[in-house]
Amino acid sequence: MEISNLSDSDLLGRTKALVREESKMTQNVLEYLRVIELRRLYAKRGYSSLFEFCMKELGYSESSAQRRISAMRIIKNIPEAKVKLQSGEVNLSTLSQLQSFIRKEEASKSRRLNTEQKLELLSVIENKSQRECQKEFVKLSPEVAKQKENLRPVSEKLSELRVVTSNELVKKLEELRNLLSHKNKTNTLAELLEIIFDLALDKLVPKGTSAAEVKLKQGGERELSQPIIHNQVQGQHQGQHQDQYQDQYQDQYHDQYQYQDQGQDQGQDQGQDQYQYQDQSQDQHQGQSQKSPLVQKPSRYISVRLKREVYQRDEGKCQYTDPLTKRKCESRHKLQYEHIIPVALNGEATLKNLTLYCAVHNQLAAVNIFGAKKMNKHILGPGQAK
Ligand SMILES: [Zn+2]
Repeated sequence: MEISNLSDSDLLGRTKALVREESKMTQNVLEYLRVIELRRLYAKRGYSSLFEFCMKELGYSESSAQRRISAMRIIKNIPEAKVKLQSGEVNLSTLSQLQSFIRKEEASKSRRLNTEQKLELLSVIENKSQRECQKEFVKLSPEVAKQKENLRPVSEKLSELRVVTSNELVKKLEELRNLLSHKNKTNTLAELLEIIFDLALDKLVPKGTSAAEVKLKQGGERELSQPIIHNQVQGQHQGQHQDQYQDQYQDQYHDQYQYQDQGQDQGQDQGQDQYQYQDQSQDQHQGQSQKSPLVQKPSRYISVRLKREVYQRDEGKCQYTDPLTKRKCESRHKLQYEHIIPVALNGEATLKNLTLYCAVHNQLAAVNIFGAKKMNKHILGPGQAK
């Protein structure tokens, strides 16, 4: 029967049945996403995160992908959330809000909340709207709940970036503005950020590979020792910043390795492989062991020159390619110099044996070589491997 010909009560009854069906389907999708994440299937298919996979492979919008991944993660951590989702006491949006609050709360306290604390928070959001949930979170932890980051395009060439930051950072920005004030007109915040980003990129990107330096080699005038302000390559750089921001954004919903990553980020050299199968003591005494005639394994050391060659050849992008679909990752996030044949298996630091991989594909490569069980133990820590 045509929908328009249904009686009022039939119309309502059937709509409610469809909504129940829709909700059931969504819960099924969450289950499937959990297994996809567990198998790192998104990485195998050439995506640098589950978030990117959900948008580009499954066709979800940014917010729909985020809600589903957040809900899936929280159900993984506290199975009681699934029961409440089924009963309708919470929904995807409020679960996603809760996950975001937990993540920020844990980051601000530098420790994980225990199951009891999470269950308590779950009970706080029961039968509440998003607005009511936000109010509850503000009551519990005003500083954390008000943290909000936002990046949205406002035109083809411009984006709006909104962040909540500490007053110390504001002071630093003012200090920088004062330092630069004798040279230029008063710099806007956006100009200050661009200077900071350029300086950071100049320091972090291997020398001789940044777009401005390439331009310099092609007849530019600026001295290399001067800070590089990429006015000439603004469009290109803007894209790069957006990529990086986007990746960070994606990371918010990819917290499986968050704590591990935070630890490793501190002082992590771009040239270091993230997962090393030599024991710590061996690494610490690498200098000595290099000289020792007893050591058989090749050195992990990669010269600056070699790094530059690899970086240039791989165009500063992850080179992982899905063997099935031929999709190439091309992420610029957390790039690492990957030994194709690992050092632990006597792979050497040569141009042929090195490639650029993002952190996700570095992990996938290690899983493929060393096995998921060993890698999960390594990534998640003893006792947490699944
Ligand atoms: Zn990648």
